[in-house]
Amino acid sequence: MTGLSANMDFVATAEEVTQHLLAVLEAAKFKVKSLEGNTITAQTGFSLTSLGSQLTATLEQTDPSTVRVTFDIKPRQKTVMTDWGRSKRELKRILRLLEARLASQSSESDKQCAQCSAPVQDADIFCTNCGTKIR
Ligand SMILES: [Zn+2]
Repeated sequence: MTGLSANMDFVATAEEVTQHLLAVLEAAKFKVKSLEGNTITAQTGFSLTSLGSQLTATLEQTDPSTVRVTFDIKPRQKTVMTDWGRSKRELKRILRLLEARLASQSSESDKQCAQCSAPVQDADIFCTNCGTKIR
């Protein structure tokens, strides 16, 4: 495959990384085409300006606590040069979203809303569940 590649290491289980990755792909408007073993294939749809991108993410347990995700993204129609720029931006966005999600998971500690017991982030001012002021 000759696409744009990137990889990232996460201190999490493969299941956690898969869960977050699926949520991030959905947020980035990717449709998951297949989920086989440790490989997720997803693509964006056609639009007025683009034929879409195809992404492959492969999860690999590099040590007992670390999962490496290798991303490979390419335009569905490789000859459309503007689509390469788009694929690159999409890949960056996915990496950012995934990093943010996993970072917030590890810093979640055991803080919770005094009103409804929903988990809250350190940065939250109001509970995202019930709206109670946290601090
Ligand atoms: Zn609450």
